[in-house]
Amino acid sequence: MLLVLALNGWGLAYAQTASVLEAEASKFRRTGSYAEVEQLCQTLAKNHPNSARCFHIGHSAEGRPIWAMAVSRSGALTAAQAKHLGIPVVLAIGGTHAGEIDGKDAGLMLVRDWLKSPPVNDPLKHQVFLFVPVFNVDGHERPSPYNRPNQNGPSLQGERVTAQRINLNRDWMLGQSPEMNAMLQLVTQWDPLLTLDLHVTDGVRFRHDVSLSMSPMFSADEPLTEMSEHLLSELMQRLSVKGHRPLDFTPVLLDFENPRSGIMRDADAPRFSHVYAVLRNRIGVLVEDHAWSPYAQRVQTSMDVLIAALELMAKDGRQLLMVALNADAHAEKMQTETVALDWQNMLEAGIDIPTGEVDLLGYEYTTHLEAPIVGGRHITYHLNQPAVWHTPVYGGIQPVNDAIVTLPQGGYLIPAGWASVVVPYLQKHQVTYQTLPHAIQGAEVQALQVNPESISFDARTFQGRLRTNISGEWVAKRANLLQGSIYVPIRQARALLAAHLLEPMSPDSLSRWGLFNTAYEVTDHISNHRQLQIAQWMYREDRRIRERYGDSLHQKLPALRKEYQTRMDRDDRFREDPEQRIDFWISQIPYHDPTFNQYPVLRLGHSPLP
Ligand SMILES: [Zn+2]
Repeated sequence: MLLVLALNGWGLAYAQTASVLEAEASKFRRTGSYAEVEQLCQTLAKNHPNSARCFHIGHSAEGRPIWAMAVSRSGALTAAQAKHLGIPVVLAIGGTHAGEIDGKDAGLMLVRDWLKSPPVNDPLKHQVFLFVPVFNVDGHERPSPYNRPNQNGPSLQGERVTAQRINLNRDWMLGQSPEMNAMLQLVTQWDPLLTLDLHVTDGVRFRHDVSLSMSPMFSADEPLTEMSEHLLSELMQRLSVKGHRPLDFTPVLLDFENPRSGIMRDADAPRFSHVYAVLRNRIGVLVEDHAWSPYAQRVQTSMDVLIAALELMAKDGRQLLMVALNADAHAEKMQTETVALDWQNMLEAGIDIPTGEVDLLGYEYTTHLEAPIVGGRHITYHLNQPAVWHTPVYGGIQPVNDAIVTLPQGGYLIPAGWASVVVPYLQKHQVTYQTLPHAIQGAEVQALQVNPESISFDARTFQGRLRTNISGEWVAKRANLLQGSIYVPIRQARALLAAHLLEPMSPDSLSRWGLFNTAYEVTDHISNHRQLQIAQWMYREDRRIRERYGDSLHQKLPALRKEYQTRMDRDDRFREDPEQRIDFWISQIPYHDPTFNQYPVLRLGHSPLP
């Protein structure tokens, strides 16, 4: 260990010793650079060719390889072998937020030690452990002592966001970063049964050392939901036995200056890894080590989470895999299933009733009404006085009403003109689709007529995008589908993902992320003088209305004029508002922009293909 520290080119030293990490050598005051990950990954693979493989899954925005390890004694070291042999795959991701780096050191140490001396009942005999030590590589290589002001070590921490300032744990659905595209490919290839995303909390001080969050409610498959919940409680139990104080959700304080006033549980969205996994009929766990635990302790916690998960998967993995594959089969048989695409805490729905109470292990604290020096309402924790916060819990998560959707019996249809916008996302997420080889006239479809009043854009960007809110009503109509239109059948393993991308009310639909915004933009208008002219022609029953807009409108004109007169006589507000008066006439003529406010995805009752 001393030799390593004494050497200048320490990267070379690792290649030879392949063992002691910078974190260990520094007694967990520091964490190593990315070169250390690369060295250890390659050395371990070289020294244990039958049970470890080191490869990169793609490159970061700044061109760094994103290294991954496949570790197993099951005989499977590739995705194809794992699939062929039916071996469960567990994916652990470190450094999604590069400053929250516990998972990197924990995973590297665990892999190194288990490769060197397999534990009793070696869990690696029953699964492939797929490990990405650092997901946000560029962020990792921009260390600073100031990146994680709410965290107790290591001395230098990486950045939360990528070089393009993307938060990777909000990018699972949109996949706008090269890093996420690499990860989505990895997930597509390996199809991990369990994904553990290894993070660190962001601020609140309490004595629980780790929280595990899952969102199984997003699933449409009951057995999978049950198994996920069971897995979570077993994980909790194993961690408790080892002396940890885990929480089975990430607590959010209702009042940051007074923790006893209550805690709530957030409802997450598919843009997070642990929800995304559920939409693939798999299991995702968001692991948050407690930021204020010392780094050495946090790495141990992270390692214990990994060990518990790998042991559980060794025990139950095959059975879980069966349940997950059954969920795929269930999705392939979906008829008219009703699913909730968005969830919220009941508090957000205005239901201010706690679902229970919890004893949170915290500290005594003072809520200042006028804090020393700075004034204002603030909190000081008294860390030498452990206390139990007996607090109400607002844990109820319920579906967002507008986002309860009955899936279409056939599937979705993307008109040819929008295919180039949508298809890349279908491919990224492994959603199956077919391209119409020929046009279809008069197909029965459901089209969403967007309510113009409902269209709003967020005031600020999120992940660089201006998010969009719309709502509307699906109406039956006939449409001519061009050759090259895209049919997305609902009966497929990735049905939930398809619905989340294509239903407008999903929190991470393509529409929400602003990809359909041109559909909701006014692009042309009728000049005022032209409107006046048309209104006058209509009022006078001018033959030019028949020439331009046809007989049926022309024949309606006497009745319209009568109606207009009645409103002028009886409706003061109408009479006094020139805008309403001209609209009365102009709204009767065929609209000049027929695709305006037409949602660019159709729903189908059955397949358009034979
Ligand atoms: Zn994080």
